[in-house]
Amino acid sequence: MDGCLNLNKTEFEKQRLIVLDRLTRIRVVKSKNIKKAFLNVPREEFLPEKLRIRAYEDTPLPIGWGQTISAIHMVLIMLEELKLSKGLTVLEIGTGSGYHAALCAEVIKSDSKGCVYTIERIKKLAVFALRNIVKTGYRKWVRVFHRDGSKGLPEKAPFDRILVTAASPSIPKPLIEQLNDPGVMVIPVGGLHLWQELIVVEKINGEIKQVNRGGVAFVPLIGEYGFKYNNGIIDN
Ligand code: SAM
Repeated sequence: MDGCLNLNKTEFEKQRLIVLDRLTRIRVVKSKNIKKAFLNVPREEFLPEKLRIRAYEDTPLPIGWGQTISAIHMVLIMLEELKLSKGLTVLEIGTGSGYHAALCAEVIKSDSKGCVYTIERIKKLAVFALRNIVKTGYRKWVRVFHRDGSKGLPEKAPFDRILVTAASPSIPKPLIEQLNDPGVMVIPVGGLHLWQELIVVEKINGEIKQVNRGGVAFVPLIGEYGFKYNNGIIDN
C-alpha cells in the first residue's frame, strides 16, 4: 500500500494551516469565525478514500456521480459573503460531500439555536454526505434532504441564509420567497458551463438587492427552477 495515503491527523492539520495562511494573505478569508471553522472541519473526511491525500489542494475534486466538492477558496468566499453568525438557520442547495454544510454548522452552532438544512438531488450523494456529517460530529446541527432543491424547503422556511452550490440560469423564485427578511443568499447564476457569476442577494425591509461578485464555474442546478433534464440532455 502507498505510504502516502496514510497521512496522519497532525499532517492534515499542518496542511490546513498552510492553506489558511495563503488564503488569509491574499484576503480570500478575513473573518475569525470562518478561519476557525476551516481549521476545525477536516476536508479529508468528506472525500472518497483515494482522494484524502489531496484534501488540501485548492481545487475542485470528484466525489462521484459526476459531481465535485468545490475548491477551498470558493467555499470560503461563499461563506464570507453569507455573513454567518451563531444561531442562524441556513438552507444549502447542493449537499455534495457535506463539507460546506459542516463548515456552516461549525459557524452557526449554539446550544439552543442554529440549524443547517441541506438538499441533494442525487440520493447516493445524500447518503455519502450524511455519513460524512455523522462521522465528523455535525449531525446535531445538519439535516440532509434528498429532493429537488431548486424548489427550496417550504416546510422549514424562512431561512436567514441560503447557499446554492450549483449554477442556476436565474435565481429560483421559491428561494427568494423562502429567504428571511433580513436575509442573505449566495448563488452562482449563468449558463450551463460558461459565464456564471456569483450573485449575493440581500432581502431587507421587503426589498431585494443584488451584487455581482464576479465569474465562477459550477456544476448545474438541475430541477424545476434550474436547468431542465430531459432524456439525458440538460437544458434551460
Ligand atoms: N456543497 C458541496 C460540498 O460541500 O461538497 C458541493 C456541491 S457540488 C459543487 C453541487 C451539488 O449540487 C451536486 O452534488 C449536485 O448533485 C447538486 N445539485 C444539482 N442540482 C440540484 C438540485 N436541484 N437540488 C439539490 N442538489 C442539486
